[in-house]
Amino acid sequence: MDYWNTDSGWSMGSSEPATASGGSVLAIVFGDSLNAGKALLASARQIADELGSSVSVALFDGDEAAGNELVKAGADSVYLIASQPDSLLSGFQYAVGKLMGEDLGGYAPNVIMLTSGQRGDALAGMLASNLAGTLVVGANALAVDYSDQSLIATQPVYGGAAIASWKLAGKPQVVTLRPGTASPIFDKNRSGKVETSSIVVPNGLLEISISKSDSPALTPELNHASVIVAGGRGAGAEGFKLIGELAALLGGVVGATKSAVRAGWAAPAQQIGMLGATVKPRLYIAAGISGTPEHLMGITEGATIVAINRDSRAPIFALADYGIVGDLHEALPAFIARLTKTQV
Ligand SMILES: Cc1cc2nc3c(=O)[nH]c(=O)nc-3n(C[C@H](O)[C@H](O)[C@H](O)COP(=O)(O)OP(=O)(O)OC[C@H]3O[C@@H](n4cnc5c(N)ncnc54)[C@H](O)[C@@H]3O)c2cc1C
Repeated sequence: MDYWNTDSGWSMGSSEPATASGGSVLAIVFGDSLNAGKALLASARQIADELGSSVSVALFDGDEAAGNELVKAGADSVYLIASQPDSLLSGFQYAVGKLMGEDLGGYAPNVIMLTSGQRGDALAGMLASNLAGTLVVGANALAVDYSDQSLIATQPVYGGAAIASWKLAGKPQVVTLRPGTASPIFDKNRSGKVETSSIVVPNGLLEISISKSDSPALTPELNHASVIVAGGRGAGAEGFKLIGELAALLGGVVGATKSAVRAGWAAPAQQIGMLGATVKPRLYIAAGISGTPEHLMGITEGATIVAINRDSRAPIFALADYGIVGDLHEALPAFIARLTKTQV
């Protein structure tokens, strides 16, 4: 079996076919999101039926009753895996690898499916990378290309203004599905195996360093915010202070692009886009953001978008309802001054 692990991760050969006992569709479900897991299984079942294979589930922190519910929702075998309160995502990734190595026959499944969200998308990225697979996050539909049995995942892009179809290649094909993609099925006659795995999600696989951030208006409540002021690489640390001020004046929250998060001007929880939050504000102010598809796909249709960018050719202007071509260090203080004046 071509399977090994190290202190920091694991890898696995993926050239062999999935065994019948393991099944070639693996769904990863968390006990605290069981309903989302059941909906995911509706899609997993459909894909497995089209591929002529079975569905295995790694259920983290769910009991036997939850496992049986997943069987009624479409699973053939469910493995119950316990985690520890301080388990990290790298620990869950490690446990999935162990499950494949020990319970699923030692081969990577053809397809790995998770529910899209911060946890699912991040774990999916780790799995795809460690297994040298392919990845689509945030898909809203899946189909099988019968010519080579590969998946085709559909995803809204440009803030929902267009739809992209991605053909996944190789093995495993890792995909996260947006909640609501399918409705759960319930078949009381379905039977399957529910087994408590001896695997426990370890902790301490990553060294963590905690540092204090002085980013303004930190909040994980992006998903529910009706006003978001977001900054990108063009904002810089000083720009983010202005962005925080404006967000506070508008009763909104601060969002960011991946580049801004990577620069340390915003926290990972503030990232919007393919690997970040999906938001549905009424007003979205984008300052120093170019408007790449990976960022814009995090903004659902319906938002009024105001873009501030000094480059008139920036793609964000194609989507914006209002645009200011200019320096955000001049535009944002003007907004702030106007709002401050209005409030006194
Ligand atoms: C698999 C994958 C997933 C990804 N997921 C995400 C994701 O979830 N979210 C995300 O955001 N990105 C994501 N990205 C990254 C994405 O491709 C872009 O790199 C990123 O969104 C660009 O961020 P940006 O707009 O801040 O930077 P840039 O593209 O560099 O744009 C900066 C903009 O600021 C403008 N500017 C500069 N100075 C000023 C100024 N003083 N005043 C006004 N404007 C100014 C510039 O004209 C420019 O348009 C992902 C990429 C990959 C490959």
